[in-house]
Amino acid sequence: MQLPALRNSYAQLPERFFAQTDPKPVSEPRLIRFNRPLAEELGLDPDQLTSPDGVAMLAGNRFPEGLQPVALAYAGHQFGNFVPQLGDGRALLLGEVVDVNGIRRDIQLKGSGPTRFSRNGDGRAALGPVLREYVVSEAMAALGIPTTRSLAAVLTGDPVYREVRLPGAVLTRVAASHIRIGTFQYFAARNDTEAVKILADYAIQRHFPQLAGQARPYRALLEAVVVAQADLVARWMLVGFIHGVMNTDNMAVSGETIDYGPCAFMDAYDPSAVFSSIDRGGRYAYANQPRVATWNLARFAETLLPLMNTDENEAVSEAEDVLRSFQSCYETVLQRGFRRKLGLLTEAEGDLQLAADFLDVLARGEVDFTLGFRRLGNDLDAADGQGTARQLFQEPGAFDVWSARWGERIASEAADTAMRRAAMHAANPKFIPRNHRIEAMIQAALGGDFAPFEEILGVVSRPFDEQPSMERYAEPPRPDERVLQTFC
Ligand code: AMP
Ligand code: MG
Ligand code: MG
Repeated sequence: MQLPALRNSYAQLPERFFAQTDPKPVSEPRLIRFNRPLAEELGLDPDQLTSPDGVAMLAGNRFPEGLQPVALAYAGHQFGNFVPQLGDGRALLLGEVVDVNGIRRDIQLKGSGPTRFSRNGDGRAALGPVLREYVVSEAMAALGIPTTRSLAAVLTGDPVYREVRLPGAVLTRVAASHIRIGTFQYFAARNDTEAVKILADYAIQRHFPQLAGQARPYRALLEAVVVAQADLVARWMLVGFIHGVMNTDNMAVSGETIDYGPCAFMDAYDPSAVFSSIDRGGRYAYANQPRVATWNLARFAETLLPLMNTDENEAVSEAEDVLRSFQSCYETVLQRGFRRKLGLLTEAEGDLQLAADFLDVLARGEVDFTLGFRRLGNDLDAADGQGTARQLFQEPGAFDVWSARWGERIASEAADTAMRRAAMHAANPKFIPRNHRIEAMIQAALGGDFAPFEEILGVVSRPFDEQPSMERYAEPPRPDERVLQTFC
């Protein structure tokens, strides 16, 4: 069967940008899941890709004539420490497609074998993390948050050894690109300004083509990436998402969420929430994410300084100006989002305080973030003290005080209740990929049962819809079900 011809504009860049590498064949490719709607959006033929030849391609065993898979070079700050060479140690960019909307998108295999950048790693991925990334990235997409997508997951038939022996898998990931802040850092660290410029021009052409003709394209690139990441992180905050490893090599300049590792959606609202087993100091805790993003963006800005202005002091002061815009972009998206979550249709002074106070009430009551907001929408015409949100609190005193204020604010706006409820339910998901469900799904899959994977994927793909038979997926974990740590 004919396999799709992929382009590869990245492989046309200078050789020092990547290492040409073929995937290492696996024993027994078996398709776990294929994302047909996404394939169609990409202009790929689902039947072709799910045929035996297609599955062989998705496992890295066989690929079309002329394909030039590459492992991308990048560096990065990991937990604040600069590592001059990281790179795709277990991933390969197979190539690109231009999707039905005319957007160029990367097709990447993750877990496809060692590369020049593998260091001591085996280049492989275990089934659990592949399924977690599949589900969480698709959930994010359904929530309307910019993200890489999952096109396919295959079992390799080969074991991988972590602490224990685990089934190996390969994820086919789709991204606007795989250019990271760390990609810029890789060249900047080598004083290779020529490469930084080539990369910047490529990133502009690919992600922000409207900037190409500007008088100050590199300053404009910095501005655009600041806006994209401020928007992204604000959206994470609005759904309680914790990325877990916001190293500069895990932040895409496209503004998509990338590299799902020990990520998590929080259950009970807690600004200091950390799930990642490797984040001992809480550097990437929920509430730190906007601060970390600005820190990462400052590292990005540093790589662009030589392109921005020949006078270094002027370049620095311009970059600082641009970086300062993060906060206002971030707050704008956050405020708009919290207004929507609270069902507010107009802007009034004190709205952000109202939202902050609700979060405070949730935190003090250790109440579920997702459910707390979702239920407010149910309660719009509930009698005083009869709402469903209130039932989440063991001691509802503080909630009652807050709820009265919220009720007054709502009453200040003329709006049809059904319409307002619909708007709130479209802003407050009912279903998120909860940790305890993900963990249970992974355990089942390790035992050969993929039904829970299919089920949770189906549920989180429609996060805003009522799904009466799936009510259990909306529930927070019982104390004994609580997952305290996630692993990559
Ligand atoms: P991550 O923590 O997944 O963002 O990865 C950090 C770096 O380690 C990247 O350069 C990865 O390509 C590399 N890496 C992670 N896991 C493996 C593995 N199993 N084999 C080779 N390289 C890996
Ligand atoms: Mg990393
Ligand atoms: Mg990474």
